[in-house]
Amino acid sequence: MRFIADLHVHSHYSRATSKDMSPEGIWKWAQLKGITVIGTGDFTHPQWLKELKEKLKPVGNGLFTLRKKFQTDDVPLSCKSDVYFILSAEISCIYSKNGKTRKVHSVVLAPDFAAAERLNLVLTRIGNLKSDGRPILGLDAKKLLQLTLDASPENLYIPAHAWTPHFSVLGAASGFDSLFECYEELTPNIYAIETGLSSDPLMNWRLSSLDRITLVSNSDAHSAPKIGREANIFDTDLSYASMMSAIRTKKGFVGTIEFFPEEGKYHYDGHRDCGVSLTPKETIKHDYLCPVCNKNLTIGVMHRVEKLADRELGFRPRNAPSFTSIIPLPEIIAEGLQCGVNTKKVRTLYFPLLEQLGNEFKVLLHAPLDDIERAGTVLIREAVARMRAGTVHIAPGYDGEYGKVRIFEDKERNEIIKQMKRI
Ligand SMILES: [Zn+2]
Ligand SMILES: [Zn+2]
Repeated sequence: MRFIADLHVHSHYSRATSKDMSPEGIWKWAQLKGITVIGTGDFTHPQWLKELKEKLKPVGNGLFTLRKKFQTDDVPLSCKSDVYFILSAEISCIYSKNGKTRKVHSVVLAPDFAAAERLNLVLTRIGNLKSDGRPILGLDAKKLLQLTLDASPENLYIPAHAWTPHFSVLGAASGFDSLFECYEELTPNIYAIETGLSSDPLMNWRLSSLDRITLVSNSDAHSAPKIGREANIFDTDLSYASMMSAIRTKKGFVGTIEFFPEEGKYHYDGHRDCGVSLTPKETIKHDYLCPVCNKNLTIGVMHRVEKLADRELGFRPRNAPSFTSIIPLPEIIAEGLQCGVNTKKVRTLYFPLLEQLGNEFKVLLHAPLDDIERAGTVLIREAVARMRAGTVHIAPGYDGEYGKVRIFEDKERNEIIKQMKRI
């Protein structure tokens, strides 16, 4: 069965995370987005784990459902579907190796509460799991990989957003130059990396050392509407073991749904305080210093990939799963209307579209354009068409600043609106 999975989100116990990241909120928004399997996030947090144990029911195949009494009835009929949870957590390791401070985020997946609790027990002795849904531990990422496997051979360890400058295994600021430098003899246990919002498979294909790795994509959502902004497409039966096998072997791993990498917060280099955004070439010309304030520039993902790559852009490894680039529907609507994403204007178009056409992925990827126009506006129709064709303009993100999507020139937008009025 073909289905979409988002394996990395956060609970309301994580810092800067919305209250709607409750089991109920995640369950509801997974349906609105079109996600069948969704990570619980934060299983290392004792309170959250308690809440999960109370509200989730094991299916018996490593996945969980939300118990009936916690299911709400505010999901439009057109989006209603079964949602399964998978136990997931993210851990931040800060440590020193090879003369440098390392900050590496990792996602861990577990097949059942017992496996999650065995890992939690060991980690409790290393640091405080209660202070944050994504705990910070003074622990070598390689050691975390070992502990993850010791807790259960069925656990899966995935380096999170592997290219972001400050908190990732390959990032420019505190990462390594290869997976091997970080995990050494345990490297064969790394089956997947998360490409993160600022890179896509095309960029990762430039490293021959990643050919055996499955490139996964997750939302890392801190609020429910952001669930599924990146996700994975599986074609397996619905079970933890089948999904893990697909990640390990790529068989049954169809591919990913991706941000346009330019939209990610760290695609280009730059200095946010000074509003400076630079391509890798420009950064080198400026000697890695901000041309405004002379401080060090934050080196983005594009630059970092360029540095570690051993192939030109455009190479595609044999049998590499495919990917589709999307712009989240609320952003498409906001761009069409020239208003903020989190506004009432957007919501008054977003929900009717879902009610009439089905979940967000259906609208973005499959709905006939005529239907989108009927349920929305001609601007949304045209915007979705352009997104599907990849003919959108994005001012690349840099140093923590998201890229800015532009689907229409002002002139074009006005032209389309004029046509609308004529009809
Ligand atoms: Zn992270
Ligand atoms: Zn500056």
